[in-house]
Amino acid sequence: MTDAPILTGTSLTGGCQCGAVRFRVEGQPGRASICWCRMCQKAFAGPFGALVTVKVEGLTWTRGQRSTFQSSDAVKRGFCAACGTPLSFEWSADKIDLATFAFDDPSKVEPGVQLAVESRPAWTEHLADLPVRPPAGGPAVAVVSRQHPDHETP
Ligand SMILES: [Zn+2]
Ligand SMILES: [Zn+2]
Repeated sequence: MTDAPILTGTSLTGGCQCGAVRFRVEGQPGRASICWCRMCQKAFAGPFGALVTVKVEGLTWTRGQRSTFQSSDAVKRGFCAACGTPLSFEWSADKIDLATFAFDDPSKVEPGVQLAVESRPAWTEHLADLPVRPPAGGPAVAVVSRQHPDHETP
């Protein structure tokens, strides 16, 4: 374990669903995007990958280590080997993209651009028009979550 960098202003934390891999980002994140390409759809198993670019020097893996899959000759994708959460898109020596929804507060990272819209499913253009199921009145069955909470833990 190396010394943590001194906090200067913005600090954002996040990690995988099980909490085995956690990270902290110092400094203002760069461009946030959603990418509809087939590789992001596969890697996230969702309609798009949501990613935000940060400087490698500002990123600390504070718990555990990600595993990686070399998804192309240019890019490694990081994920938690224990729970499978996608975590990173690694394409540069000094910059790295992190999965936006792995952050503890994803609302702080708003995408500013869409990429690879040629593989965006047509139905996503009408997503907001889909009927909404009302929230359940109360838990019918008590569920014990094993998801790591959206904050740092000892
Ligand atoms: Zn995990
Ligand atoms: Zn992509």
